[in-house]
Amino acid sequence: MAKIRILPEKVVNKIAAGEVIERPSSVVKELIENSLDANAKSISVMVKHGGRELIRVSDNGEGMSRKDAENAFTRHATSKIESLEDIFQIRSFGFRGEALPSIAAVSRIMLLSREPGTGLGTEVKVVGGIIESIRDAGTAVGTTVEVANLFFNTPARRKFLRTERAESIAILEALTTLSLGNPAVNFRLFKDDSLKVDYPSCVSLRERIMQIHDKDIAEALIPIQANAPELTVSGYVTAPEVSRVNRTGQYFFINNRPVKSPAISFALRQGYEGTLPQNRHPLAFLFLDIESSRVDVNVHPQKNEVRVANEREIQKCLVEAIRISLHTHKKFPRAHLKKSHPGVENLFHTSDNATHYYAESDGPLAPRMVQEPPDASYYADKNRKVASLCTSGPEPSLPFEEKDRKEIPRIIGQYYSTYIIAENNGELLIIDQHAAHERIMYEKILDILMIAESPSQLQLIPITFSLDYREQEALEEYLPLLEQIGFGINSLGRNTYSLDATPAFLDLEDPKQLLLDFIHDAIENQPPRAVDDRKKIMAAGIACKSKSIKGFSHLLPEKMEYLVRSLFNTKQPLTCPHGRPTCITLSNADLEKQFGRK
Ligand code: ADP
Ligand code: MG
Repeated sequence: MAKIRILPEKVVNKIAAGEVIERPSSVVKELIENSLDANAKSISVMVKHGGRELIRVSDNGEGMSRKDAENAFTRHATSKIESLEDIFQIRSFGFRGEALPSIAAVSRIMLLSREPGTGLGTEVKVVGGIIESIRDAGTAVGTTVEVANLFFNTPARRKFLRTERAESIAILEALTTLSLGNPAVNFRLFKDDSLKVDYPSCVSLRERIMQIHDKDIAEALIPIQANAPELTVSGYVTAPEVSRVNRTGQYFFINNRPVKSPAISFALRQGYEGTLPQNRHPLAFLFLDIESSRVDVNVHPQKNEVRVANEREIQKCLVEAIRISLHTHKKFPRAHLKKSHPGVENLFHTSDNATHYYAESDGPLAPRMVQEPPDASYYADKNRKVASLCTSGPEPSLPFEEKDRKEIPRIIGQYYSTYIIAENNGELLIIDQHAAHERIMYEKILDILMIAESPSQLQLIPITFSLDYREQEALEEYLPLLEQIGFGINSLGRNTYSLDATPAFLDLEDPKQLLLDFIHDAIENQPPRAVDDRKKIMAAGIACKSKSIKGFSHLLPEKMEYLVRSLFNTKQPLTCPHGRPTCITLSNADLEKQFGRK
């Protein structure tokens, strides 16, 4: 029976228009959503070459009649809504009737589908948007859509695709996200013919999370439950012991639709206020069920944003729900650190929380953040003064002893356990010890990556850890470079790894956490293609995360001397790898002016 209708023009005109298919993962997402809308209980995805060569999604859902299979490729043809009002009651993922025609326009597509109760199915082939053939075909009940040579007729877009691995990560992300919202559905992913992911059908969200993540995460899960008028919140968050450098472990759903929502992220953060340092983020699997009439899904062509009426109330409810759950699960912080004023009692604090807290200024490792330092005009422009005793540009390769003799500023002392105060040519230098150390480590790691290998230090007891599929892809991307600087990481089969050695020159408190943080950064920020750029990203990431000299720690005079000497022997001493200054200066003239002497 035909179900698909073409939407009337006045409905079409009101539907958020735009590009639906940006990259292979958008195809995977749209096809899985269609399978879910067709009530499939089992969905198999197959990708070749990160989806550029082939994407095939098969389901055992309701299938399509011959007429529907043909109509499915017409723009704005959908079985899911009839009028604009329907959008406000919608529970299906699709409603715009745009995915299949958009995919078909930029690929060679084959659709094979059969409805229950019919003997034969239908096969439709479309090339570059033009239907090439429609015929009866034998197939199981359900639908298979095969998309080959994505963007074959739009070379510009094909050129802008990211690396195969980056595409694979995005595909895994799309599949994992949808699988979290549908634990009863079996999801499988084959990559270049081998089975990579298998999430069997299960009865609860918790089980699904445990299929995806390792046991540390499963053990840290805290249920969230709250009810307010026209709103129910449910799901899980992790106790503060398990956190990430970024939000890659956070999944939000509104009426079971995966959404990116700054408002929810913000509320989540607030719920953790005082329990997590600013730069750490919990994992979260949060489902908000909101009265349909208060949700507008027709905001974004890729449907991953929705607009919600009285967002503030929802945020409030969420913050409360998280606070209560953390509290009832006794996951309150060991030490409460106030953001604006650490206070004297915290000066020598060494708990984990404090460590992270004072390293707060570390930005995420975004490729654009590894900057060459701004040139002199930058500082002149902003009336900022920076130590001028160092020439930037490559350091002549002096033997170390020679370098050692190079004159360095005279160290006066340390201020606030954070800054080294020094004097140089009539200027007072205020050096940010953490930024300085980051610059030193960055150059050291980069040197190793560019020219040599570094010795490893065996772990007395190897640390084992497991990674989800996205994390595995990201690790593999950087594995050769990690090994070059001295990490020894071995696969123990399936998703388990052991960390057997760490770089000898790094004094790491928690090497596993450093590695995980690095991996999560790599998931969020696609690695650049050029190897040298990748090395810079890696050096900046490790330098920033190794944190062996904290922003807030008391330093002995020898250590200060070592830091200042090393800093002024780097190639770009004026900035940390993220482009922030390492040092600011106060000249005699500045002081005289302040004191009214001149
Ligand atoms: P939308 O999902 O917005 O309706 P699509 O272009 O994604 O638009 O799909 C068009 C129509 O094709 C759907 O409305 C549905 O009727 C049909 N369809 C697509 N995929 C499937 C599938 N896997 N199983 C059954 N029907 C499908
Ligand atoms: Mg759809």
